[in-house]
Amino acid sequence: MSNIDLEFDQKHIWHPYTSAINPLPVYPVKKASGVYIELADGRKLIDGMSSWWCAIHGYNHPVLNQALKAQLDDMSHVMFGGLTHEPAIKLCKLLLEIVPENLQMVFLVDSGSVSVEVALKMALQYWQARNQPKVKFLTITRGYHGDTWGAMSVCDPETGMHNLFKRFLAQNIFAPAPSNGFNKFVRQDFENFKQILLAHKDQIAAVILEPIVQGAGGMRIYSPEFLKNVASLCKQENILLILDEIATGFGRTGKLFALEHAEIQPDILCLGKALTGGYMSLAATLCTQEIANTICSAPPFVFMHGPTFMGNPLACSVALASCQLLLQSNWQKQVQTIENHLKSYLHPLKKLPQVKDVRVLGAIGVVEVDKKVDVAKVQKYFVNRGVWIRPFLNLIYIMPPYIIKTKELDGLIQAIIEVVEKKIYVPS
Ligand SMILES: *Cc1c(COP(=O)(O)O)cnc(C)c1O
Repeated sequence: MSNIDLEFDQKHIWHPYTSAINPLPVYPVKKASGVYIELADGRKLIDGMSSWWCAIHGYNHPVLNQALKAQLDDMSHVMFGGLTHEPAIKLCKLLLEIVPENLQMVFLVDSGSVSVEVALKMALQYWQARNQPKVKFLTITRGYHGDTWGAMSVCDPETGMHNLFKRFLAQNIFAPAPSNGFNKFVRQDFENFKQILLAHKDQIAAVILEPIVQGAGGMRIYSPEFLKNVASLCKQENILLILDEIATGFGRTGKLFALEHAEIQPDILCLGKALTGGYMSLAATLCTQEIANTICSAPPFVFMHGPTFMGNPLACSVALASCQLLLQSNWQKQVQTIENHLKSYLHPLKKLPQVKDVRVLGAIGVVEVDKKVDVAKVQKYFVNRGVWIRPFLNLIYIMPPYIIKTKELDGLIQAIIEVVEKKIYVPS
């Protein structure tokens, strides 16, 4: 056994969304490699989560390790104010090659939430510069955009902590989330959205959406047609469109970016999570030349943001290596294989009365059950079964690293099937 001080952890360290008095159990990890997470007691778990959408190439990848080691010997960090460096330049060049061509400026930040803050600030500064101060954002319910103030204000009003922080939170505008289903375009969903947009159009600085897949707000999948219609409406009404691809970017949905399903161009784009292949925190907010020029043509003639660790060379180097690795790989085929497999084995669960829905897109598989999952119980079961899957609410879902082998994927799927069929998720 290890000498990891779990007692200290329990007593003194917060984990995400966790009680200090009665924390959920945590499992100490010794190392991780490929698709395996090795616990301190030696057990190896097949990873179904990619550490929350990030570790697309798996853990401890030799190419990514090498990129970091090489960069470490040059410099770990220098300030980005007044200085620049090759890792940032190369990364931004590559990003501009792979995103829609209207996006021309890159703002590097330290996390996904901050990239959303930056996107919202860009939109606000843009309209301010045009002397049309529009100060509201329109989004859909069931969304998730991060845990900082601006981001929280566009998260789902019920699950997104709106009540808790009501008096401090900006009041934005919500349209009902479109129906679940990649192939299910319901015209009324768009008509509802349109009505709300038109009713508030003079106030709306930007629409912000997660394209096609709503992640932490409920693992929902909606139709590209809805997104396409929203994008044209925004153009028509001269409202900026911010797409948050922090979860969906870098191949997860079967396209390099989920916006490609709808063949649209946002005015502002947020990237994060898999950007560094899950090695460290880095995110980016990209915008059009027109937005950048407008912001910088009016007082204070600069964009007002600048994090301390902006453009961190270590993070940029590993991000560059991760993006290159992805583009050189056969990720389309890998994701397609995962998708086919998830569809074949998870869709049949729909027949069970306790299953409300099964959703699969790209390398994302979601089983929605009838009751809130007993996370501690299910997690223990999964760990004993040799897999790492962490449900939330009534959602049991996986988004494995793209390099996962069929046999390992089967391990994840079988574990989910057992938990659902035997109703292990119900509290005992
Ligand atoms: C995770 C996530 C964020 C927040 O990113 P952090 O790096 O956790 O701050 C924002 N938007 C979406 C869609 C996400 O999935």
